[in-house]
Amino acid sequence: MVPVPNASAARDAAANCLLQLLFHPRRLYLGAPCRNFGKWYVKKSLRPSIYCSRACSDKRKLADKRKLAHADKIKRAKSAIRNYRTRPAKWAAMDWKEWVCQSEKDITANFLTLAVNRGELKVPSHRQAP
Ligand SMILES: [Zn+2]
Repeated sequence: MVPVPNASAARDAAANCLLQLLFHPRRLYLGAPCRNFGKWYVKKSLRPSIYCSRACSDKRKLADKRKLAHADKIKRAKSAIRNYRTRPAKWAAMDWKEWVCQSEKDITANFLTLAVNRGELKVPSHRQAP
């Protein structure tokens, strides 16, 4: 490592900043990195918190809720696809997407197409009803 001429001065400045932070009267208000954005923040109170703001917390909770709802939809679509393979003969001519959409009312053909393109679902291999 090549010594920088002002390395000693830079180290002193960094040490000075660290000491100011360690002995600052409001040091306990420094929040850990926000779980949503990963940035440090100044808390408004001393209550333990993992998000920088209510809006940030709500945004994260909504994203988590949507993720769970999506996972649930995929799970139900997979279950319907398993049932498609053993469907009754009177629905033998039905396409697998129609079958899934009919059995799960909130699942659309567009959702299934996107899920297949993302690799979250597999197209059923055999379409022949028993
Ligand atoms: Zn945040």
